Amino acid sequence: MNLKNKNLFLQKSLINGEFIKSNKKYSVSNPTNGEEIGTIPILNGKEIEKAITSSGEAFKKFKNFNAQEKSNILKKWHQLILENIDDLASILTLEQGKPLSEAKGEILYGASFVEFYAHEALRISGENLTSHKLNHKIITQKEAIGVVGAITPWNFPSAMITRKVAPAIAAGCSVILKPSELTPFSALALGILAIEAGFPAGLLNIVTGDADEIGKEFCANNLVKKISFTGSTHVGKLLAAGAGANLKKLSLELGGSAPFIILKDANQTLALKALMHAKFRNGGQACTCVNRIFIAKEIHDEFLEKFTLEVKKLKVGDGFDEKNNIGPMINEKAILKVERLIKDALEKGAKCEIGGNKIKEQFFSPTILTNIASDMDIAHEEIFGALAAIQKFSSIDEVITKANDTNYGLGSYIFGQNLNDILKISNALEFGMVAINEESFATSLAPFGGVKDSGFGREGSHLGIEEFLQIKTLHINFN
Ligand code: ADP
Repeated sequence: MNLKNKNLFLQKSLINGEFIKSNKKYSVSNPTNGEEIGTIPILNGKEIEKAITSSGEAFKKFKNFNAQEKSNILKKWHQLILENIDDLASILTLEQGKPLSEAKGEILYGASFVEFYAHEALRISGENLTSHKLNHKIITQKEAIGVVGAITPWNFPSAMITRKVAPAIAAGCSVILKPSELTPFSALALGILAIEAGFPAGLLNIVTGDADEIGKEFCANNLVKKISFTGSTHVGKLLAAGAGANLKKLSLELGGSAPFIILKDANQTLALKALMHAKFRNGGQACTCVNRIFIAKEIHDEFLEKFTLEVKKLKVGDGFDEKNNIGPMINEKAILKVERLIKDALEKGAKCEIGGNKIKEQFFSPTILTNIASDMDIAHEEIFGALAAIQKFSSIDEVITKANDTNYGLGSYIFGQNLNDILKISNALEFGMVAINEESFATSLAPFGGVKDSGFGREGSHLGIEEFLQIKTLHINFN
């Protein structure tokens, strides 16, 4: 890997402003060719505890920073991320596999949260409420909640970090971060830039090692006041149980099963472009990626023909090769899941229109299945791959029932022109986000998050910072 700033690639953990090694380590491999990229420390219980203690100390000191000082270190971090975008994107593609142009897009998207919350750090305010007594005042003030334990996934190894760390720091919290074991190098590169930006020692610690052990320590350690997690619903529920036992505040951004509804009057060109993006970006490995496609029966065959032609054009291969649109899947387990879903669907009557097979190693061909029915696993499970599963529908009521027939409730998409139909569907959808004639939810300006098994809490917008604040009420007698 050719980095302009070689220091950004670090095989260590970050504790209390120092980058540390460990005797025990694990190997991280490149999903494109299986080769080892480097190794990462497996911290022991004592080291994790020590890291949390240093986060606690950092929090006490950070309380003395004024709003402008908090804003300034975020501004500096933002500037350094942009200055190093090429290196950050290369590290990301190397460990995660997505095409380099998408990796750059992710770094920019991630940086936008740092910029946004650098401004929000200046806007934390309370209220002056009418009192129930004469010559009394009630004032609320918002205070940083304390040490935040953040756990992030491999599919967006950079943006999922800044989306948590930036609002937490803006609120005045310190953060102890555990990145995915599959993609730790993007996290550490952000850590190096944070130190360079002037983050005091311990304000951002990055711990690596056994996920279960670290998660348990976050839940048990009294210094950690809040856990912010992005990942699977299974692990989210484990953390909810652990955090609940100690009454810790929690944000969970979990799995999704996004429906993509194309009504009979939809602008098909717009819907097609959006579907290609919302289904295949990051090789389908995003919690907002389209999971179930519902096409009105009147336009099903016509739209399918256009969709198949577009999918045929997709190029799968090494993310560093500019011509490729889709990189490798993250690991063998992900491939096996897609293969299982295809086999089950075909056995139950689905038709494979294109693809359906592994190309080589961890590369899978973009696939379209039609005739999907509700007894198939693919109608209910999160796919997390470049596999499009299509169902036909006859009425608005039918598509609403089918779209809501899932435990998940993160993103959803509707394409059509009749305002009544669109509003009827968007009102009825049990999802945290609805994209209407729009392909993406990705912006720091809007709240992002789900309902049902997709979790709770919001990231982005002015609401994102609230997750890291608590309210103190002052009752003042001035008689
Ligand atoms: P995925 O299946 O997409 O990898 P996971 O939920 O397993 O999703 O992983 C998301 C993040 O959760 C990663 O950082 C992973 O290391 C972490 N993780 C996995 N298991 C646990 C656990 N038992 N406790 C805490 N974190 C965990």
